[in-house]
Amino acid sequence: MVYKLSRRIVVKFGGSSLKNSFGEAAELVQHLGENNSVVVVVSALKGVTDRLLELSRNRDPCILDEMERLHERVARRVGADISGYFEELEFVLKNPETFPSPDAWKDHLLSFGERLSAELFSRALEGKGIPSVPVDAFHVVEARGRFGYGEVDIEKTAEKIHLIERILENGMVPVVTGFLGNRSGFRITLGRGGSDYTASLMGLLLNAKAVAVMSDVSGIYTADPKLVKDAFLIPFVSYHEAAMASALGMKALHEKAVEPLQDRIPLILGKTSSWKLGTLISRVGFGWPIIAHRELEERAEISLISTTEIPEIRGYRVSKRGSGYVCFSVDKSELNHALNEIHEVIFG
Ligand code: ASP
Ligand code: MG
Repeated sequence: MVYKLSRRIVVKFGGSSLKNSFGEAAELVQHLGENNSVVVVVSALKGVTDRLLELSRNRDPCILDEMERLHERVARRVGADISGYFEELEFVLKNPETFPSPDAWKDHLLSFGERLSAELFSRALEGKGIPSVPVDAFHVVEARGRFGYGEVDIEKTAEKIHLIERILENGMVPVVTGFLGNRSGFRITLGRGGSDYTASLMGLLLNAKAVAVMSDVSGIYTADPKLVKDAFLIPFVSYHEAAMASALGMKALHEKAVEPLQDRIPLILGKTSSWKLGTLISRVGFGWPIIAHRELEERAEISLISTTEIPEIRGYRVSKRGSGYVCFSVDKSELNHALNEIHEVIFG
């Protein structure tokens, strides 16, 4: 019997990795491309989705200018022409009545973040001598559901995936916009942080051997390393643990990103700047607890995810409990302190 391992790899870059002229990210693609055929998925540049959201609220022309300046600076460096995107953006901004609803209009506005970064990243690759094409997921990813919270229709998307396969067969690197889909001819977004979801879907539909999610953190930590000073990296996390932790607020990965992996495609989280691959999500987990948190309306919630025994934490009110997790409700003002304290109790 002949075993044939897929040579395809999907690599997703978060907004914070797409700084300046994408040097580090483009080099990683070049490196991976030596032995693989690479599919890139990109988020919008850092902060852009938030600013576009603000633009949809106040239509402040200053934000439009700021967006243009920000992207133009990169465009000049990589030799891209992005004027067409800004003409369209201005038109969309002025004509909300041409959309079926304000939410559909808003999703179209948000789409510019990823579309611009795909165009720019693709040009950056070409500049390094890597043939590449930007791919607007609108032409590939079919979705349904509420605008702002699109759900991908996997069967319908599978029928269009040949568009990306064709690019790979021609020896080029497709740079696909994350976070976006097509709902009956209108642009729809897949939920904040949804580029990870796009990356896993590409992994599934293109039969990739692995999906890499690159950002400014190395992987999954015992707690958010930006808030908990003693948090440390967990090298192996199971699909189940990752899905639970992300559903309970862990930021390292979008909550929908685990399901398309179908318990068989490995997902690696890593840091773009150092290429450090920090966490492998596969069937095997270390079983170390993960502390996730999120802000709810009135209060904050801290969750402890563990497939092994969950230690008792004194002094915290349990708000929810399920198989493999327990949640505590805390005052928002105490979140930071509580996270550090719980981390200390568990990991000492
Ligand atoms: N740009 C989108 C967001 O900020 C999607 C993503 O980054 O994954 O939510
Ligand atoms: Mg993210």
